[in-house]
Amino acid sequence: MRMYDLIRKKRDGGALNEAEIAFISDGFLSGDIPDYQMSALMMAIYFRGMNDRETFALAKQTVHSGEVIDLSKIPGIKVDKHSSGGVGDKISLVLAPLVAACGIPVPKLSGRGLGHTGGTLDKLESIPGFRTDLKMSEFIQQVKSTGLAIAGQTATIVPLDKAMYALRDLTATVENQSLIAASIISKKIAGGADKILLDVKCGSGSFIKSEEEAISLARKLVTLGHDLGKETMALVTSMDEPLGYTIGNALEVRESIEILQGRGPSDVLEVSMELGKRMLIMGEKAQNMEEAGETLTAALRSGRALDKMREWILAQGGNTEVIENLSLLPLAPRSVEGKGTTDGYVTAINAEMMGQAAMVAGAGRRLKTDRIDMGAGIVLKKKIGDRLQQGEVLFEIFGSDEANNARALEIALAAVQVESAPRKKKDQIIAEIR
Ligand code: URA
Repeated sequence: MRMYDLIRKKRDGGALNEAEIAFISDGFLSGDIPDYQMSALMMAIYFRGMNDRETFALAKQTVHSGEVIDLSKIPGIKVDKHSSGGVGDKISLVLAPLVAACGIPVPKLSGRGLGHTGGTLDKLESIPGFRTDLKMSEFIQQVKSTGLAIAGQTATIVPLDKAMYALRDLTATVENQSLIAASIISKKIAGGADKILLDVKCGSGSFIKSEEEAISLARKLVTLGHDLGKETMALVTSMDEPLGYTIGNALEVRESIEILQGRGPSDVLEVSMELGKRMLIMGEKAQNMEEAGETLTAALRSGRALDKMREWILAQGGNTEVIENLSLLPLAPRSVEGKGTTDGYVTAINAEMMGQAAMVAGAGRRLKTDRIDMGAGIVLKKKIGDRLQQGEVLFEIFGSDEANNARALEIALAAVQVESAPRKKKDQIIAEIR
């Protein structure tokens, strides 16, 4: 077999068989297939696509390119929730303690933020002392004793995905649905959960902009998950404006704690509840949506979800006093306000641009090696549908550097659209795919 012939086959619209995909995966990982040939293949796949059998073969190769985590020592049904990534997406911070308080074990491996989207690990590390570099034995022990743990992905899982993603990122070939689906599902299967719940984000802050595309990706993911032997379902949810009122690491932790205290924004709460209900049913802690909703509401109202968050922070070495005293979380020392220039209604807040503005203020990384300012970010004062008067504050940007704050302000102001008549907000939950 020659890589040259396989590139040509895909370039001309052919389908690769399982043996050919195995040849490519092994050769790329061993270094026998150089980056330039793999890049050419990725571009051919980008234009020609892959059918379901090819996508399945790639996902299978990716899972078995590294370790598959064994979570069997943790009793109970482990349901892994995964988001395709968005701006202000703090759902995992709310959902993990919420469902853990209802008896669902949460052993979650998460990633860091890159570009305009944030990462759960960075957010958690903004809590003073919080450690995410748990050894696998510590991670499993903590889920057994506390009910939940969120840690960084080990270097040993899905090495093929890591190498392929790095190349796709540099060659403008990320946005192919089969490559995305194989990449996401392989990480979830290798992470060892029993069942998988996917939150496919759709809109201006997601890399999937249209509902049609998001539903098609969700279908691919669910089919792949089932074909790889795991019960999988997906919700397609809106990422048309940032989720909640905060973007940026410590700011998002603050808002998550507020939700668990019963005073957070309704959009984050709604998405958390909808995902949580399905996790409870998949984890066999509720028979139906109504019962699941009641169980979650009771965990929130009684303070058990907040207690679980405290227990979790303590277990991972963080300062639990942040729960009672939010000012212990870092906040960047300088801020600048974005104000409305006309009267009207906020009709759009481009989430990708807001994410970029937060990144420029210091909350995110342009390159993997960039350092994050944990206290930087944006607090929105208005969301889509809100009335605005001229001179009223739309948002506040926090950062440590005045020049960066000024650049962020320009980007964020351009992200907000104000019109004379209100526009109806899109529903948070767009579709459910089983
Ligand atoms: N997220 C992933 O994990 N992989 C992709 O290919 C795209 C988004």
